[in-house]
Amino acid sequence: MSPVIPIRPESTSGCTDVVPLVERGQREVFCGLTGIIWLHRKIQDAFFLVVGSRTCAHLIQSAAGVMIFAEPRFGTAIIDERDLAGLADVHTELDRVVQQLLARRPDIRLLFLVGSCPSEVIKLDLSRAAERLNRIHHPSVRVLNYSGSGIETTFTQGEDACLAAMVPGLPAPSAADPPPALMVVGTLADVVEDQLRELLSRMGLTVDFFPPRRSQEMPMVGAHTRFLLAQPFLADTARVLQSRGARHLPAPYPLGVEGTTAWLQAAATAFAVAPEAFESAIRSARQRAEKALAAHRERLKGQRIFFFPDSQLEIPLARFVHRELGMDLIEVGTPYLHRQHMAPELAWLPAGTRISEGQDVDRQLDRCLADAPDLVVCGLGLANPLEARGVTTKWAIELVFTPIQGYEQAADLAGLFSRPLQRREKLAA
Ligand code: SF4
Repeated sequence: MSPVIPIRPESTSGCTDVVPLVERGQREVFCGLTGIIWLHRKIQDAFFLVVGSRTCAHLIQSAAGVMIFAEPRFGTAIIDERDLAGLADVHTELDRVVQQLLARRPDIRLLFLVGSCPSEVIKLDLSRAAERLNRIHHPSVRVLNYSGSGIETTFTQGEDACLAAMVPGLPAPSAADPPPALMVVGTLADVVEDQLRELLSRMGLTVDFFPPRRSQEMPMVGAHTRFLLAQPFLADTARVLQSRGARHLPAPYPLGVEGTTAWLQAAATAFAVAPEAFESAIRSARQRAEKALAAHRERLKGQRIFFFPDSQLEIPLARFVHRELGMDLIEVGTPYLHRQHMAPELAWLPAGTRISEGQDVDRQLDRCLADAPDLVVCGLGLANPLEARGVTTKWAIELVFTPIQGYEQAADLAGLFSRPLQRREKLAA
């Protein structure tokens, strides 16, 4: 197999032993309810019922941008002061809302009660509510609960909590000693999933994706399961899968040509795919992606980039823009550093990279302005103030909403970094 040639030299340990700059101050991130936006598109017979306040309803409605005549697969049961004052029995109200919803929407097979952070909701035991509702509505509808609260570290934890809630209900294999099976864990756009399935099938591998597109297609899990993480923010999900006997295949994440190749290689190695079969399966897609990246590399090489902590994708993205696009890393902020899941990525970062974990937003803004980077990747709340100071920004959340994994998306991913710089040049011209 001919290796991908990174434009940066290989480093043997990179940032493996990095001591991050740990900050625990004010944070600027979305809450975990945001994950509903991509999760409801993925699991097509699921409904996400947020148990929250009017603020939660506004967030989810405006962020998802659903047209008024569409039948959305999410909604909010608003808990207010009346409930807080004990004037209504919240559990009875919730049962009534769920009853109405399921009567009106017989297509729903999986119902999530999604907790939030208002004090009215924190007092509610949603796991008890889910158990009670399950007794009423199962087997036609399964009811689960998880928290999308803004008290968690960051917004992608909403997906982690949702997937982790599903794991105990995954079926176990019926055979005593089933052959090893591959599972890809983490929500991917359908188009990306289809491409990765095709590449793996060319190597002779079958694969289950979790979460599945329909709740009736939940993959089996057990000691025979080998899983690859498609997203870097699934620490709890990985932990509960491992508690069911599944084994994690460590790999970089499938971002860019190098990341995708190494990620696929981890599966190929675990399932003893011959090197020639691996190479022939990926060759054309990899070559197309390498070619498509070249124009972006020309534009981005030597540009200095600063990542604020937002989605937990920052470290794999930094590795991609540095090694494949030639950008210089000023600071790579991450809301939370999971050393084990990030080990292959950290090894690929240049030694000495400033990695920060958590946030103290004022101090980080001071560092950012002092460093005067060419491009800043940050949350929506910081982008406008930074743009007003003449700093070019990229909204981090776009990197979560856009299909960016795999070979065919490598150039689109590069484009998300090169376009803001292009726009800035045009405005300055
Ligand atoms: S869960 Fe908390 S942070 Fe999120 S919208 Fe509701 S009130 Fe706001």
